[in-house]
Order: sequence, then structure tokens, then C-alpha cells
Amino acid sequence: MAVKVVQRPQLTFWEKLYIPQILCGLRITFRHFFRNLFLHIAHRFGRKTDVRAGVTYQYPEELRPLFSRLRTRHRLMVRGNGAPRCVGCMLCETVCPAKCITIVPAEHPDPDVEKFPVRFDINLGVCVYCGYCVEVCPEDAIRMDTGILDIAATSREAMKLDLHELMNPELRKPVAACGLDFPHQCGVHGGELRGSWEETLAALTHPE
Ligand code: SF4
Ligand code: SF4
Repeated sequence: MAVKVVQRPQLTFWEKLYIPQILCGLRITFRHFFRNLFLHIAHRFGRKTDVRAGVTYQYPEELRPLFSRLRTRHRLMVRGNGAPRCVGCMLCETVCPAKCITIVPAEHPDPDVEKFPVRFDINLGVCVYCGYCVEVCPEDAIRMDTGILDIAATSREAMKLDLHELMNPELRKPVAACGLDFPHQCGVHGGELRGSWEETLAALTHPE
């Protein structure tokens, strides 16, 4: 088989100096800087209002407005008594292309409700935010509309959201703002239905 030799282009003398490229980059940076400076001053005096100036968001103090259809961190919907709306059908775990959902269902004491999850984890370190879990759910029990984009963790294990954190997204804030032990552990995380329904419901709704 014939071997094709590919000639790699050689850097010219000026390219090896790098100084012209640095000056070229600085020219672009300063062009944007002075253009935005001029436009923001002009806007203050009601001039050039038809020309949009660049805006810098002071993230994370200042958040950019999110589109209403944007898929953000998951949450589990709750019933009037505080129990999860999820009936443990496992459809979301089955359809998840990243295999990052783990559900352990238990029998629900109410005969009208098939099951409920005693464990519901989503590993956000693996999730691809496709939204299939939301689309497939027959109970509208899981949504991706929290508007939370920050996913801060100090380990891969801490990237998992548990049942409590999914039922109450406020529990898992960015690390610096979280008032709970990190990662947060809940009393029903072991995957077993312990004690009476009232005790289980209390454990579900009041994280330890
Ligand atoms: S958004 Fe997609 S990848 Fe993430 S948990 Fe849902 S189904 Fe899985
Ligand atoms: S598809 Fe909906 S009801 Fe079924 S296990 Fe997932 S969240 Fe629960």
C-alpha cells in the first residue's frame, strides 16, 4: 500500500516570534474594550441606543436570564402529604441513556397508589441532560425546571442527588452556600422501607 507523506507546514520567522500574534490578539481585545466603553457612555446620554453594547454578567452574583424551556437540574414532584408523586414504575431508569438513575421502589400503603421510591438517585456527573426521564414519566413526577445550573461537588460520589435533594432542590446549593453536611445523606437512602408508613413519610419529608 502506498504511503502518503504529509508535509507539516513550517512556522515562518515572524510566527516563531509570537509577538505579532500577541499584538493581533491585543488589537481585537482593545477594539472590543473601546467600542463597548464608547457605546455604554453614549447610552448614558441617550445616544446610539440602536446599537447594542457588550454586557458582562457578574456571575455567580448576577445570573443570566434562562429560557423557560432550558433543561436545568432535576426535581421530584411531591403530593399534598409531602410524599413523592413518583409511583416507582422504573420507566425513567430504563430509558435513561446514561444509566445514571437508581430507583428502589416499595409497596405503597394506599391501594390507589402502586408504589413509591425509598431510594431515587441521579448521578449528575454522568447525566447528559437529555430530558428523556421527564418525557417518559407517566405521572409528571420528575421535572427539569429548577433553574439551577450550578453543580458543585468535591468528589464524584457527591455528584449524586438523593431522594431528599430531588424532592427539595434547595437542599443542594453550591458548596459554599450549603448549610447541611456535604454530601447530604437521608434516612431512607439505604433502599429499605423501615417501620410504619407514617415513620417513612416523616423520613421522606424531614431529612435527617
Ligand atoms: S436527563 Fe437524560 S441522562 Fe439525565 S437522568 Fe434524565 S434520562 Fe438520564
Ligand atoms: S417514570 Fe416517573 S413515576 Fe416512573 S419511576 Fe420515573 S419518576 Fe417515578
